[in-house]
Amino acid sequence: MNEFDRIARYFAPLSAGEAGAFALTDDAAAFTIPAGQTLVVTTDSVIGGIHLPRDASPAQFAQKLLRRNLSDLAAMGALPWRYLLNLHLPAATPENWLQQFSATLQQEQQRFSMVLAGGDSTTGGEDIHLTATLLGLTPEPILRRGAKAGDDLYVTGTIGEAALALPYALGEKMPDAAAQPWLARYFAPEPRIAVGLALRGIASAAIDISDGLVQDLNHLCQASGVGAVVHIPHMPLARSNDIETMLTGGDDYELLFTAPAALQQKIAEIARETDTPITHIGHITQETSSVFLDEAGKKRRFTRTGYQHSVAPKLSG
Ligand code: ADP
Ligand code: MG
Repeated sequence: MNEFDRIARYFAPLSAGEAGAFALTDDAAAFTIPAGQTLVVTTDSVIGGIHLPRDASPAQFAQKLLRRNLSDLAAMGALPWRYLLNLHLPAATPENWLQQFSATLQQEQQRFSMVLAGGDSTTGGEDIHLTATLLGLTPEPILRRGAKAGDDLYVTGTIGEAALALPYALGEKMPDAAAQPWLARYFAPEPRIAVGLALRGIASAAIDISDGLVQDLNHLCQASGVGAVVHIPHMPLARSNDIETMLTGGDDYELLFTAPAALQQKIAEIARETDTPITHIGHITQETSSVFLDEAGKKRRFTRTGYQHSVAPKLSG
C-alpha cells in the first residue's frame, strides 16, 4: 500500500467532521475559528525508545501522543478542537500497526472531541517518531505568569505513579500487582481537560506537570515572579516512600495551579463537578524560591528537580 492509499484508508476517516480538512486530499487544511475564541496551539512528540519503550503497542503510542498534548491544552484552559499528525515510521511498519494505531486515534478523538485535519508521513530509520500538533479553543488562555503572593496552590489527581512505573515499563523490574495502576498512568495519563475549562477566569496561573512537580512549580513561579511553600504531607502522592522520585520523576500530566485564597469554595465545587480530586498543597509567596516542608516543618531538599536525560530514557518536555 502506498502513502496515499494509507492516508485515504487509515487517516482520512478521522478527518470526517472538519470540512476544511478536505478529506486529507489537498495541500493544507483551512479553518474558520469560531467567533470570540482564541486558537491555542501546542505540539509534542513521542519517540520509541525515548518517551515510550520501543515495543509499546500502537494503542499506547496513540494514547500517549495525544494525551501529552491534551494536557497542555488543559493547562491553558482550552477545549480540544483539531489536530495534525506527523508520522515518521520504520519502512517495515506492518499494516496492522497502522490499523490499530488509527483505531485508537479514532477512540481518543471521540473521547476528547477532536478531529484530525492533516499531517505528514515519512518513512525510514529504526524507531517510531510521532508528532501531534493540537489546536484548542478558549476565549482567554490561562497562563503560567499570573500567580500572586497569597494565592493558594493546588494540584489535580495524584502525583508520582508514572515515575514509579518507569522501571517496570522499561522491563528493569518485573511488574507486580502494585505496579499495574502505575503502569496505566504511565501509558495513558488522564489529561485534565474538564478542570482546565472550569478554571477559566478562576485560576491565576496554571501549568501541566510533565517534568516533575518540583521543576514545573519552578517554571510557574519563575513566570509569575513569585515563590511557593508546599507541604509534602498534604500532597496527593502515590503509595511509596520514594518522595524524590514522585516529586521529580515527571510524566504525571496533572495540573498545578494557583487561585486567590477567597476562591477555596469555588475550587472545591470544581473538584465535585468535574469528579476530579483537587488538593490544596501550599501557597504562593513573595520570595522567589519554592520551599518543600516535611511533616516536622523542615525544608526538604532534592538532589534533582526534574527529569534528567542521564537517569531515564525520556527527553525533557
Ligand atoms: P504535501 O506533499 O503537500 O506535503 P502530503 O502528500 O504530505 O502533501 O499530504 C497530502 C495530504 O495528506 C495533506 O492533506 C496532508 O495533511 C495529509 N496527510 C499526510 N500525512 C498525514 C498523516 N500522517 N495524518 C494526517 N494527514 C496526513
Ligand atoms: Mg507532506
